[in-house]
Amino acid sequence: MIVENSLDELKKREGAYRIIKNFIESDVESELYDLTGLSGGFIASEEEIDLLQTYIGPAIFEDKLQEVGVNHMGGEKIFALNRTSSGILASILALVSKGDSVVHFLKAHPAHPSIIRACNLVGAVYDEYIDLDQFKIKDNTKLVIITGSTMDHQVLDEESFKKVIERAHNKNIPVFVDDASGARLRTAIFNQKPACDLGADLSVTSTDKLMKGPRGGLMAGKEEYVNMVKAKSNEFGLEAQAPVILAMINALKDYNPQNLRDSISKKDELFMLLIKSFNMFEKTPTGVMVSKESLKKEVNSKRDKCNLSETDLCFLWSMILLKNENIITIPAVSMPGASTTIRFDLSSNDANKLEIKEIYEKISRSFEYLLEVCVDEDKSRKIIYNL
Ligand SMILES: *Cc1c(COP(=O)(O)O)cnc(C)c1O
Repeated sequence: MIVENSLDELKKREGAYRIIKNFIESDVESELYDLTGLSGGFIASEEEIDLLQTYIGPAIFEDKLQEVGVNHMGGEKIFALNRTSSGILASILALVSKGDSVVHFLKAHPAHPSIIRACNLVGAVYDEYIDLDQFKIKDNTKLVIITGSTMDHQVLDEESFKKVIERAHNKNIPVFVDDASGARLRTAIFNQKPACDLGADLSVTSTDKLMKGPRGGLMAGKEEYVNMVKAKSNEFGLEAQAPVILAMINALKDYNPQNLRDSISKKDELFMLLIKSFNMFEKTPTGVMVSKESLKKEVNSKRDKCNLSETDLCFLWSMILLKNENIITIPAVSMPGASTTIRFDLSSNDANKLEIKEIYEKISRSFEYLLEVCVDEDKSRKIIYNL
């Protein structure tokens, strides 16, 4: 294995950041294309930035945050965190103790690693289900978690969503929803309701996923629960600071679900081109993706003697896409333990700068190069860590 642990992932991400920095600072006329769907952003006027220096700003932002936050998420009260992972950690710290059970229902594995890490931290027993017939809520369960849309954009249907909430509430157990991308994918593409409107007690979304906000976690829910999580976040410094809150508010005001819906036809066009040459692609709600298992299978069918692991192949391809084709996909820049699935999100702003045929060509060319280098572990390592 080339990338084995969190430290290796850090090294890989720092390597990718060096490529991005060199690219931005070079005089080359070509562009960098962020197709992650996590474009981030910081929309703010000069006057608003001036407000950050006074005590008045945060007070004004707070009222505005409640207004735009409830509009986006539903619920009674809003609270902003540094990341979605921070919201997950704070909720589990606030609601779960050693020996308690946490059960999680989602459309498909894998769950976000912060959920499992937080449960381990408090010493909770963690169970994960993807099949309603098998879904079981043990007696000592203190929290039921639902993931609305997974890291790979596998979206839970609204019927199952409601059934899980009903079963938890029958036992008086609160429901927390990890709706990092789901708060937009579920509502904009699948016409589902916000998690709080479906009965969730807490729901958190990531303000840089499929919208133009900063990386941050926006939490909504019943006031009683939000207050508990907010207090716990303040104890550990997990809450968002004023600059991030300002950018969140403006991104929420700017958000238009039509932009996501517009990506559907582009996705279909790209998919039609790709299936002529590859077996490994699947559609996502707003793009296409290749799972680590499918990538390994496709590589094996076209090349003998590639001994790289599934995840190393993902990291390698993602770094080739970045370095050779100027395309940012998540595995090159991701946080430790995140899904290594390669996703091309056509709702990304930068997707509009490329013709579908160009995206197809960049994918094909980079895959050809992947086939060439993946038999050479030394060379692969150099590419992954940008040595
Ligand atoms: C992205 C994501 C997270 C974590 O978001 P961060 O901003 O990286 O903390 C959690 N859960 C799911 C399902 C995600 O897709």
